[in-house]
Amino acid sequence: DISQTVEADPEETLRERPPVVTIMGHVDHGKTSLMDALRGANVVKGEAGGITQHIGAYQIVTKDKQKITFLDTPGHEAFTQMRMRGANVTDIVVLVVAADDGIMPQTIEAINHTKAAGVPMIVAINKIDRPEANPQRIRERLLEHEVVVEQMSGDVQDVEVSAKTGAGLDKLIEAIGLQAELLELRARPDREAEATVIEAQLDKGRGPVATVLVNRGTLKRGDTFVVGTQSGRVRALVDDKGKQIKEAGPSMPVEVLGLGGVPQAGDVLTVVENEQRAREVAEYRREQATEKRTAMAPANLDTMFAGLNSAVIEFPLVVKADVQGSVEAIVNALHNLSNDEIKVRVLQSGVGAITESDVVLAAASKAPVIGFNVRPNANARQLIQRDKVRMMYYDVIYHLTQEIAKEMAGELGPLRIENVVGRAQVKQVFPAGKRDKAAGLLVEEGAIRKGLHARLTRNDVIVSATTIASLRRFKDDVDEVRAGMECGVVLADTNDIRAGDQLEVFEVTEQERTL
Ligand code: GDP
Repeated sequence: DISQTVEADPEETLRERPPVVTIMGHVDHGKTSLMDALRGANVVKGEAGGITQHIGAYQIVTKDKQKITFLDTPGHEAFTQMRMRGANVTDIVVLVVAADDGIMPQTIEAINHTKAAGVPMIVAINKIDRPEANPQRIRERLLEHEVVVEQMSGDVQDVEVSAKTGAGLDKLIEAIGLQAELLELRARPDREAEATVIEAQLDKGRGPVATVLVNRGTLKRGDTFVVGTQSGRVRALVDDKGKQIKEAGPSMPVEVLGLGGVPQAGDVLTVVENEQRAREVAEYRREQATEKRTAMAPANLDTMFAGLNSAVIEFPLVVKADVQGSVEAIVNALHNLSNDEIKVRVLQSGVGAITESDVVLAAASKAPVIGFNVRPNANARQLIQRDKVRMMYYDVIYHLTQEIAKEMAGELGPLRIENVVGRAQVKQVFPAGKRDKAAGLLVEEGAIRKGLHARLTRNDVIVSATTIASLRRFKDDVDEVRAGMECGVVLADTNDIRAGDQLEVFEVTEQERTL
């Protein structure tokens, strides 16, 4: 029976396991330095500098013989991507904030991603050796983002550190230990292993290799396993110092050799009795994967509200707008829509283009992304397609609140779906007639068609919403111009066009909601 593999272990078999920690924060605030310093603090004297980290995670042993695992994930996108794939491997987040800088955009994103995941946070106020350091100001500014640290009478631990001098590192390790104790992290060590892939690649000499984190059980050399939709047999286990080991227990990061193919980060490795069984489970996983994809299909209220079993239903949203004033107005208006049954929860909001961080967070929380006069950037667009994230674009706040209010009340009209048909770049602009301007375009993706809806954007901010009034190729009026070709257009009711602007052309269809 396959369901056995997801069953919980009996209470009496559980043992304490080390916490798994992810360090997040704004670029240059000292994440890498802090990780190096923590690892260095653990290195036996004389060996320092001689040991290079071998895999994307490492474990340290504290003075009182406690182990801590650190994940070397590059930023909050990776953290949330893992969560989206069902892999909530992080127990504790350490948020690094430079004492001489402040709360920066990626600090805020890290806070949002951590909160959305429900993972406890410890604030490390770094660079306290700098003369400009002002830790108190950091604590005050954190209040604005609803992070209330202990020194401000809250319950988030905060520690002043310097990755450079090593000051405060002991206190940080202590804080992690304290938080881990509160979490009562436990797993059963004496069973067949289950582990999560944190990174994987094809190694020229060694074939497919994966770094995994053991969730429970003990992974041993010779074990038969399935990972993702493939099976394999452990040929060798390599620890974070590059040393071959025989086995790895709960919370231990280890590199596995002997895979049939390269799995994806977030895939689960499960040890099974034999190869026959490995094939069975692989098959089961393939079926599950298909089901999951279907469930992720265009978000509707079913999926948005799924899994929320508290009395108050949460309506999660991500909001991006062109100016700060609009962000504030929208977030306020949305919060005002909350009632006793449904509560609007803005997971992340900000000024500027819709980014990877926004989309990943929305996908993981099955939330739509609201774009107010802004569009997704190129990286975000790929993720939107891949993860089928629901996008809602507006240029009037009232329309936005109306539609969300209707959804909350269950009065749902048809779902308005935009299908982007083509994208083009404005190469030059010239006058056309008395009022209009014509633009010379290079079609970069898909096709441009006469009469379609069009949106003109400048640095991913919408300049105007319009339609293709006329379309010309050389001197001829045409109906369609395809990617790779140049053409001239006149846009209805707009004169604000500049060389370098992007034009996005789309159709709008309406679809019945499935509730
Ligand atoms: P990351 O982008 O968050 O990984 O930041 P890094 O670890 O690369 O650090 C960015 C810069 O800050 C580097 O030049 C570090 O040497 C410096 N730095 C990091 N921690 C400290 C610290 O505690 N004190 C001082 N003075 N500089 C630091």
